[in-house]
Amino acid sequence: MSRIGFIGIGNMGKPMALNLLQAGHSLKVFDLSKKAQQSLVDQGAISATSLCDLVKETDFVITMLPTGKEVKEIFTSPDFLSNAANNTIFIDCSTIDVESSLDAHSLAKQGGFDMLDAPVSGGTVGAKQATLTFMCGGDKKIFERCTSTLETMGKKVVYCGGPSQGQVVKICNNMVAGSIFVVTSEAFALGEKLGVDRRVIYDVISASSGNSWVLENACPLPGGKPESGKDKDFTPGFSAQLMLKDLRLSQAAAQTGGSPTPLGAAATVAFQQHVNNGHGQLDTASICLLINPEIK
Ligand code: NAD
Repeated sequence: MSRIGFIGIGNMGKPMALNLLQAGHSLKVFDLSKKAQQSLVDQGAISATSLCDLVKETDFVITMLPTGKEVKEIFTSPDFLSNAANNTIFIDCSTIDVESSLDAHSLAKQGGFDMLDAPVSGGTVGAKQATLTFMCGGDKKIFERCTSTLETMGKKVVYCGGPSQGQVVKICNNMVAGSIFVVTSEAFALGEKLGVDRRVIYDVISASSGNSWVLENACPLPGGKPESGKDKDFTPGFSAQLMLKDLRLSQAAAQTGGSPTPLGAAATVAFQQHVNNGHGQLDTASICLLINPEIK
């Protein structure tokens, strides 16, 4: 069993950390929200009084933070890397821009440490059920040393390549998911406007070529999928704001890579508008409100 420090006890970090704890690892936690931190301490985790306290005597430090800004703030924070135990491996599971990820890798390396970027897919359900997919970038030998720890929180751990290559794959995945959320919402709105019941639309698409993870796990329309009716208030899950962040990352990466992404660009504009309309805190599935604001 390992000594693990976990930073960022949010919608994803909390269930991930809980799985580590339940597997018997010694877990120390830190979050700016003391309420979030306490929720894990109540389950048996050790409370870190500071970042400096968290990194002492750990084998792995896992970060699960909103954006590259927070990840870089932590990696450049005084006393963070300098207080880490020898041989600590840093694993960043946040979804962040490629540049910030490369910066975090360099900062760790300058401090004499190894690092893996390991963003995830599978959402809060996958985090709770320990069925996440981890997309990993960094040194292959370091990846091999992290695999069993990551397997405690997920069912698929994939080596994607060198530093930041996990982020590249994650960004590509979320560009696909974001685009599917928009077009699935369009399909439901169109079908309903022409008189078809949303359950019928769901039944047919879910058994046809238009089916997707988005439809099966986060059907954008309340009640479209039998069980999804309970979530009419679009409680996140994965917020529209975070999806916009990832779509913007895809567009920045498309610029860097010189690769055209017309549908990714359209999905980015749609989510930007949705967030501008004040819906950033709602679940990603709420994008259906942009297509039909009167949806019930
Ligand atoms: P969240 O906002 O629920 O949690 C982030 C946590 O980090 C919060 O508890 C916050 O207080 C804490 N935090 C922020 N800055 C901090 C700092 N400087 N020091 C310590 N703690 C700090 O976000 P989330 O939904 O858990 O997402 C985390 C990351 O995972 C994001 O990059 C997101 O894109 C990615 N992700 C989320 C999902 C999802 O379904 N929610 C799925 C896959 C990937």
